[in-house]
This record gives sequence, C-alpha cells and structure tokens, in this order.
Amino acid sequence: MTKYVFVTGGVVSGLGKGITASSIALLLKSRGYKVFMQKFDPYINVDPGTMNPIQHGEVFVTYDGCETDLDLGHYERFIDEELNFTSNITSGKIYKSVIDKERHGDYLGATVQMVPHITNEIKNKVYEAGITSGADIVITEIGGTVGDIESQSFIEALRQIQYEKGSENTFFVHCTLIPFIYGSNELKTKPTQNSVRDLRNMGIRPDALVCRAPYDTGESIKKKLSLFCSVPVENVIDSIDVLNIYEIPINYYKQKIDEIILKQFNLPIKKANLDYWKNLINTVNSLTNEIEISLVGKYVELHDAYISVAEALRHAGYKYNTKININWVDSETLEDSKTNLKEIFKNSKGILVPGGFGSRGIEGKIKAIKYARENNIPFLGICLGMQLAVIEFARNICNIKDASSTEFNPTCTNPIIDLMSDQKSIVNMGGTLRLGNYECTLKKGTLAYKDYNQDKILERHRHRYEFNNEYKDLLEKEGMVFSGINEKTNLIEIIELPKHKHFIASQFHPEFKSRPTKPHPLFDSFIKASCNK
Ligand code: GLN
Repeated sequence: MTKYVFVTGGVVSGLGKGITASSIALLLKSRGYKVFMQKFDPYINVDPGTMNPIQHGEVFVTYDGCETDLDLGHYERFIDEELNFTSNITSGKIYKSVIDKERHGDYLGATVQMVPHITNEIKNKVYEAGITSGADIVITEIGGTVGDIESQSFIEALRQIQYEKGSENTFFVHCTLIPFIYGSNELKTKPTQNSVRDLRNMGIRPDALVCRAPYDTGESIKKKLSLFCSVPVENVIDSIDVLNIYEIPINYYKQKIDEIILKQFNLPIKKANLDYWKNLINTVNSLTNEIEISLVGKYVELHDAYISVAEALRHAGYKYNTKININWVDSETLEDSKTNLKEIFKNSKGILVPGGFGSRGIEGKIKAIKYARENNIPFLGICLGMQLAVIEFARNICNIKDASSTEFNPTCTNPIIDLMSDQKSIVNMGGTLRLGNYECTLKKGTLAYKDYNQDKILERHRHRYEFNNEYKDLLEKEGMVFSGINEKTNLIEIIELPKHKHFIASQFHPEFKSRPTKPHPLFDSFIKASCNK
C-alpha cells in the first residue's frame, strides 16, 4: 500500500517548502524506501511553459517532456530520481481534464461540481503517481499558502484522502514561519497558530510543523505550538536559515522527522545511508578555490530564472574544490556601444550563454560569444546559446553578415537557425515545443565524445528552432565541428570549435541532469577548463 506525505505552507510563501519536501524524500530514500515526488500548483495555467521567467523562474523539463515548476529541479537534485508528467499538476490541468470529460459525455446526467468532480480528479492524480511510480511513499507539495482561494480544492481533496486512507497512510507536514520581533527580541508563534487554524477549518490537522526561524525555536516555543496546534512536541521541527541548502536534510534528520513519519506509517525504521550526503556538505563547506563565471542572459534580475544552470555550475565546482561566483550579466547592457566588454568580463574564467526566447538582448549575447571566442575564454552555450554561437560564427568567420534566426527575423535572407519543419503548422504556443529526451549520437575524437565517453546520449530539450543543415558544409570548412547529432532527424545537437581552448554548445539543456554529487559532463569539462585544469 502506497503511503502519502503532503507538504503545505502557511503564513507566507517562499519558506522553502520545496526544499523541505525534497529533504523528507531524501531521508526516506536514504532509509531504503522507494520515493516519488509531485507538486500541485494552484494557478490556472496548464503548465508554466508559457509564463515569463521573470515572474515564475525557470521552467524545469522532465525526461518525458513535461514543462514544470522549478521546484521539480530541487526534487530531482535531492533525490536523484527522474520525475515525469505525473509530477506537476496545476489547476489548469485539472480543470481542463474535467471540462474535456464533461464535453465527451463522461459525466452524462450529472451537474459537474468542485466536489466531487474537481476533487476526484485531484485525488486521482495523487493515486496515479503512487501506482505508476511503484513508490512506497509519494511526497506531494502543495504550492501557495493555505487560505489562498486557488488552492482550496486541493486542500479539500487532501482532506478526503486523509479520511479515505487513514492516518497510518497519510502524513501532513505544514511549513510555517516563526518571525523574530526586534525590540522585544522574541520569536512569535501567533502567525503559525492562525495558519494551522485555517488548515483545521478546512478539515486537516497537520501531523508535523516545520518552523522556519532565524535560530532554533527552543523548548518553550515548541510546547506552545504543540498545545495550540495539537501536534506532539517532538513533531515540531526547526528549520533554521542556512547558507548551504544541502544541510537542510541533515538538520531534519537530527530532529528525526523521517523516523516520526515512518512510525506513523507503521513502516520499519531501516538504517539511514547518508554518508554520501554528509561528504557533500563537507565538500561544499570547505572549498578552497574560487573562480568567476559570467552568465549572460536577459532574465538575470531574477536568478531563479536560471536556477538549474547556476546549480549545475556549482556542482561541477564541488568536483574541482572550487566555489563558483556567478557574474550575472544582463545581455541588453552589452548592446550599448559604450559598454566595455573587457571590463565586464575582466575576472571571468568562463562565459556561459543559457537558453532563452525572443529577440530582446540577442545582439548582446552574440557580442559575449564573440568575446569568448576571440579571447580564448572557455565557453558553454545552451539551447539559444548554441543557436547564437552558430550565428556569431557564420557572421564573423564565414562572412555571412546577415546570418540570423527566423525567431528574431522572420524574413532574414540567411536563416542559419530556422523553425523546425514539424513546428511550421503549430498554432498553439503551450506544450508544443520539442520537449524532453531525444537521442544524440556523438562523433568520436571530439570534445563532446571525450566529455561523455559514450556513443549515444539522451538529453532533455525545450526548443522550436534548429540549426539549418544547408549551412553545415560551409561552417565545417571554417572549423566548426558538429559533434552531436540526432540521427533520426539530422538535427544538430552539439557544436564545438576545436581550435579554441574550450568552446562547446548544445541544443539540449544539460543543466536539468546535473546532480550535486554527479556534475553533468558538459558542466564538468567547462568548469575544469575554466579552472585551467
Ligand atoms: N528560442 C529558441 C528556440 O525555440 C531557444 C529555446 C531555448 O533556449 N530553450 O529554439
């Protein structure tokens, strides 16, 4: 029988619910249980794919091509499991499915309502995750904070699950804030009491509280919370602010949150295998070198827009005992002719141009790529970063001055990057990119082959445009190597410049597969080159 852990949030958003859910999953996995994770996002968008990264942060892509909330990236990095379409459910997805069923006639005769139709659909998504993953324990995070209008149907569905499955099969973790008040210099429990009351008004009694506070709350606060919220004292867990997020699972482990959950589930408390994670923390806390890497993008005002890229850089840094300081460069600022690129990149040991959409800031990114190429600075391009590296090379080496992409210039005479042929008839923007895993065959003797040491790789994608193979011979003649290709479609997946110290770019997104204890091969070699190793 699958067991279910639900993670809700109260008082304010941004308390690190996703990290809490991931940490719990990691601890349960470390005790030998098969875990699966899922996030419910109460907004009406079917998925975050059409949202502006400045509002929502990065869109994380699963291997099976689901565009998801960035929290799924945390989940995968913490539990090192590949998640899928059942892992990110939005209100939009739920409503769409119910309305489609209604039109199809599935509810013939019934008045379609929030309860039971919407709530049944939500419950099915929870149960489906358990069935399809075969997990012992499914951990589901509910986005937003308790009391939001949008999340009410989700909370109601969870109440029904708690009733149906019983408390030996369900465990509710409520993440909340314990603010510190300056002047009286004390921690306050009232907001938590109120938020637990909101939850109980909706029929759910939390089994544990995870209290975000600047320091350990101490016995008397815990007793007070226990009394007012009907939660055993030992189930009041501190979540203090940390510099290194990888410490959070260990902080929870010390407070036995996993044991508390397993006890309630009547599951054996097997020995936890956490040595690898403790080693990671030691590594992260004792890095002796540091280097700067420039990340040139147009959403840099919100670092979360590039969270997996930033994490992947750091992971590779851990391997080389090096702290990565990211120089966040707004690509638009590079377009101004007065901007001194030498000054901006003066301390950078590597330059990375990540993915992106639309024409804003494009010329600035091309300038950064040119700078990296001409000054022999290690370069890594991702998706749009690869497309622009090809355009830069065509313009400045192959002398095709008007080389561009039909994404920015639909009528350009030299479309080095063009819409994929199967994209030409697509009218809907949502969910129609080339998404998820596609195979790529690597060419022997190239940097890509050396990095992966494999003939064939599977990587995750999210794009609509591709390299136009009509220009391949020309670019090859001038020294560009096409080292990765999807053989079925002839789509170019990786390009590199062997004469350069380290210049490589991929059409896919390697950042999604990087793990703190297993850096991705392309990030590994990029950081290695940037460290001069
Ligand atoms: N905008 C480009 C495309 O659609 C690149 C996408 C990306 O960088 N994720 O092909």
